[in-house]
Amino acid sequence: MNSAEIITIGDELLIGQTVDTNSAWMGMQLSMRGIRVNRITSVSDRREEIIAALDESLARVPLVLMTGGLGPTSDDITKQTLAEYFGTLLVMNQEVLEEVTARITRRNFEMNENNRRQALVPESCRILRNHAGTAPGMLFEKDGKIIISMPGVPSEMKHIMQEHVLPMISAMAGSHTIIHRNIMTFGTFEAKLAERLESFEKELPAMIKLAYLPAHGIIKLRLTGTGDDPELVQRTEEEQVRKLYSIIPEVIYAEDEVTLEETVGKLLFDNNLTVSTAESCTGGRIASMITTVPGSSAWFRGSVVAYDNSIKTGVLGVDPAIISRYGAVSEETVRAMAAGMRKLAATDYAVAVTGIAGPSGGTPEKPVGTVWIAVASARGIVAEKHRFADDRQVNISRSASTALNLLRKQIISR
Ligand code: AMP
Ligand code: MG
Repeated sequence: MNSAEIITIGDELLIGQTVDTNSAWMGMQLSMRGIRVNRITSVSDRREEIIAALDESLARVPLVLMTGGLGPTSDDITKQTLAEYFGTLLVMNQEVLEEVTARITRRNFEMNENNRRQALVPESCRILRNHAGTAPGMLFEKDGKIIISMPGVPSEMKHIMQEHVLPMISAMAGSHTIIHRNIMTFGTFEAKLAERLESFEKELPAMIKLAYLPAHGIIKLRLTGTGDDPELVQRTEEEQVRKLYSIIPEVIYAEDEVTLEETVGKLLFDNNLTVSTAESCTGGRIASMITTVPGSSAWFRGSVVAYDNSIKTGVLGVDPAIISRYGAVSEETVRAMAAGMRKLAATDYAVAVTGIAGPSGGTPEKPVGTVWIAVASARGIVAEKHRFADDRQVNISRSASTALNLLRKQIISR
């Protein structure tokens, strides 16, 4: 039993009122235990849709997990539909009734007919007790296949999964192993990365799969190793990870879900170094990112949001002649901002950014998305010009991440 499908039920999922977080969580839990999720299907609270989805899934896989439609109200019809599907009757289950009664009276409510209905369960199913709510989970077996129905409320679904379903799956999955490794990269783009990894991909052993997952300038490379011998999968995957480090060393900044600001924070902390920021178009975003990391007071001194030129000159000490000669968005200005900030805050590093976030302010020579970034340190100043996007929000966030990445590169190459 190493593949499964998930069916989530509820009109609210189809009209965009509720985001289907259940299947994302379940998919992760299953894949961590070596079960490949074949499909996720969302259907409305309609008998025919539920039956059709179940028929289709059972034709493909031996395990189907369902959530939703188990509430006490008339719009929830999963239970009746399953009873019909498996040719069984709904019967009152005394244990569930006692549990529901205890839950309801503990909260000082009166039991009503709707509550009693929650204790009506298909006769042929195995009950999966739900201590997080009133609707129990139900397990059906048919032709050697397993079908599990759980409530849609995420906390109740998780409770039943953790209490009953996952232990059963772990036992059934046996020795089949799936190991995910996430390699975080920044400072390149997908097509370029794929070009550099062309022969790496061709030479990948059959048990290892590679996926590119880009988001906000970060490209996560996910290696998935599968096989029956956990040690072999682990060792083979480790070899491939080492290989990645040797092919694209400068763009890998961390593994797993670590952020750039966490990586930079750790580097600064471990080396007892400090940083400050002078920010024009990012408006303090870099400082904000740095300070989301717990303990950042150990490495972050402060920031000047030098939005107006008067702050660049008055606070950071940028020579007004530089700005009038080269412009506020220029290599000369960003270098002067970084140098001025480093002196002002007396930090090991100072990061400076000046650019045109848009939508207005662009010129033919300096279009929207033109951003200068500099990092000053005892070794001098490095400055880079970037041309990001036409979108203001993208420009701000890309500028901030790119500045953190330049800082990271300066620290590791020092
Ligand atoms: P139900 O079991 O259908 O009565 O679902 C109860 C509530 O759980 C719904 O009103 C939703 O807010 C929530 N819910 C149902 N299905 C999902 C799902 N797939 N992901 C996240 N929340 C859900
Ligand atoms: Mg519902």
